[in-house]
Amino acid sequence: MGATVSGSPLSGRTVYFPSMTEAGVRAIAAAFRSVGIEAQPMPPSDEETLVLGGRHSSGEECLPLKVTLGDVLKLLVHGKVRADRMALFMPTSDGPCRFGQYGPYIKGVLKEMGYGDVLVVSPTCEDGYSGVGDPAGELLRTAWRAMIGAEQLTKLLLRIRPYETVKGAADAAYRRSLSDFCGTVEARGGNTRERMERMKESLACGRRLLRSVPADASVPLPLIGIVGEIFCRLNNFSNDDVVRKVEEAGGECWISDVSEWLWYTNAAHIRTLKRFRKHLTMEMFGAKLKWHFQHKDEAELHSVFGDDFRGYEEPHDIREILDLARPYLLPDGALGEMLLSVGKSVYLHRKGADGVLDINPFSCMNGIVSEAVYPRLSRDCDGLPVRVLYYDGTRTDRRYELDIFMDLVREYSARKKAVRVLAPGMGMKAAVTA
Ligand code: SF4
Repeated sequence: MGATVSGSPLSGRTVYFPSMTEAGVRAIAAAFRSVGIEAQPMPPSDEETLVLGGRHSSGEECLPLKVTLGDVLKLLVHGKVRADRMALFMPTSDGPCRFGQYGPYIKGVLKEMGYGDVLVVSPTCEDGYSGVGDPAGELLRTAWRAMIGAEQLTKLLLRIRPYETVKGAADAAYRRSLSDFCGTVEARGGNTRERMERMKESLACGRRLLRSVPADASVPLPLIGIVGEIFCRLNNFSNDDVVRKVEEAGGECWISDVSEWLWYTNAAHIRTLKRFRKHLTMEMFGAKLKWHFQHKDEAELHSVFGDDFRGYEEPHDIREILDLARPYLLPDGALGEMLLSVGKSVYLHRKGADGVLDINPFSCMNGIVSEAVYPRLSRDCDGLPVRVLYYDGTRTDRRYELDIFMDLVREYSARKKAVRVLAPGMGMKAAVTA
């Protein structure tokens, strides 16, 4: 079924999203449907994704391009969707790295292959998201809430799954919670407040389900921060399911989520306006208003989870992370994920994490720059183990590497000075269960 909403250039098309994070993309697709735009997450990536993506790229592009292009082509060559009924949501940026080229590159390949009718939508805050059409205002707020809710469920999954005593129980509870939440996001009717209440109810249900998973957290596992390039660290296919591999190796993961990046772009927008002395402009007013409402919605959705995330608190303001990166990378000179990865590593150290993995596509400049400063950062953080892992889609077995990393983590953990605050139920004989 195509979009039916009037005033949208997406009318009559199904919007697909690159599968950055399974939960986030499902929730955002549901948010689009809630305003009448038909939207779907990309079907799961597989080996054919890499074959098709590889055949139509030169090898100099980064892995996220190959995966996204391969997924799009898979849909088209198998006739799952007609080109003139498809829209691809491809955010863009004008920064220095190759990301800004993804949209134009994909458009070029599609045209060459006879799929030029696919609409590639690259909305930006500069164009007021006009690519979305009339429902942009309502959609942006719903999509933000949807993403925060999905992230919270994922965070709870990662807190509980390493301790489950019935294999697969946490994943099953998570899947049910996420489906219920996406259904709630999609449901129309009611005003903004009523929709927020419905989302909170669904999250509360998901929380109960996840907390009822049989688990034993009496011995806390080493806490591993997962930072790095946004697509590769969050897309399980691209990073060979690194979170699960760390869990299998005896660790618990704390992954940087998408909202961290969005807070970073908000802060960068305000900083740019200040640099161009646009303090008293409508644009600055809009940016501050957006900041205010996003914070308000985020805090309200977080409140559903009570003290579940005690010890796992994200910084109240993203500028805290940028300040922590400052001794290593200047926030006015370096840009993007390298700043967030470096700043977050220091933040995680202060929260008592036992190690950090920085996940990147092979040849990603973010990983390369961060890797150059990690030895100093690690020395400043009492020898915190920090390891950069690069992925190129070749499915290398990394168990050996991870085992060595986990040995370093355990050695560090036994002597670390930073104290980790434990979440309720952890380190006690009773299980994590409610
Ligand atoms: S962030 Fe890294 S992987 Fe992503 S486009 Fe830039 S260089 Fe490529």
